[in-house]
Amino acid sequence: MAGRVAASGLAERLRDLIRENGPISIADYMQICLADDRAGYYKTRDPFGEKGDFVTAPEISQMFGELIGVWLRMVWQETGRPRPFHLVELGPGRGTLMADILRAAGGDAHWQSAVQLHLVETSPRLRAHQKERLSSSPLSGSWHDTLDTVPDGPVHLVANEFFDALPVRQWVRVRAGWSERVVGLDAQGHLVFGLRPAPQSVCPDDLPRDPPAVGDVLEFSPVRNACAREIGRRIADAGGTALIIDYGHPRTAYGDTVQAVADHRTVPVLQDPGNADLTAHVDFDAFARACRQEGIHTSALMTQADFLLSLGLLERAGRLGHGKDQETQRSIEDAVERLAGPDQMGHLFKVLCLHDRDVPPFPFR
Ligand code: SAH
Repeated sequence: MAGRVAASGLAERLRDLIRENGPISIADYMQICLADDRAGYYKTRDPFGEKGDFVTAPEISQMFGELIGVWLRMVWQETGRPRPFHLVELGPGRGTLMADILRAAGGDAHWQSAVQLHLVETSPRLRAHQKERLSSSPLSGSWHDTLDTVPDGPVHLVANEFFDALPVRQWVRVRAGWSERVVGLDAQGHLVFGLRPAPQSVCPDDLPRDPPAVGDVLEFSPVRNACAREIGRRIADAGGTALIIDYGHPRTAYGDTVQAVADHRTVPVLQDPGNADLTAHVDFDAFARACRQEGIHTSALMTQADFLLSLGLLERAGRLGHGKDQETQRSIEDAVERLAGPDQMGHLFKVLCLHDRDVPPFPFR
């Protein structure tokens, strides 16, 4: 409840800010709601798990992180076993994914001794969780607010459900061109959506192939693209790979994908600032183009189902369940379904691999 009280102060501060300076962009609204130092969503709580607001893949089953760990060790071997190299995770949540990666890949002492571990996380509360979760690992990590402070050098990076948490701006097609969707106040002082002329100086680089119709919404994320370029630059300079897992669309398309989730349900975006998770679909096409600008390669997009099944999800589930009681076996089967089922995460979530060689690593094309 402490989070709720703190974040209700956020609604008041947002109203003051808008009264003083005028309406704010959707990106600024997302940024304040998620990352405000005192009352931002990620700063005030642990949102994960059945008791939280949403469940992510590593929290469903250890198999997710273990398969990624084995994949990371394989690409390290195939990229000439750089020593040392930076193992980086963006937005590590509770630290579960990294703990499972380190356990699975750490069986190879050569890999383990080459790792320099970096976690990019802005929430002090989640950093504490991550430190606790990783405390039994022989590796000591360093924590960063942004990727910029991770030293240069060969890098293998993972990001699961990180990029959907980065703010997007929204352009709306009107008769006279583009307007920007903003958050303002109505006569009673409630937060409402509005439009303002789109600034000429900021323009989405990526337009869908089809011409826009009046009312179409185009999302773009300067912050996400800047981060994509930074990852691309690092891989171009020193070699390595990045594995980006998120929900989103394969081609730049029109559509308003900003959504708020609290207690496992979608809620109105402006209803309770700071108390709901705010996300937007990742435009993987725009993301991949930004990376390629730095001279690296991007794989074809895979669904999470194809990716995990290619890495041996069913075999891993079989081994994990072997000799266990029926209830445990059923919960493993249930986890497989949640991670890879076409109606669950399997098709909604996509996986993109960034790499520095002509041929992408297995199982990408
Ligand atoms: N990868 C985790 C958590 C995903 S939620 C999992 O799969 O369970 C998003 C994570 O990114 C949280 O840890 C959040 O605190 C962090 N985060 C959000 N915005 C961030 C930013 N701009 N910089 C660094 N970390 C951020």
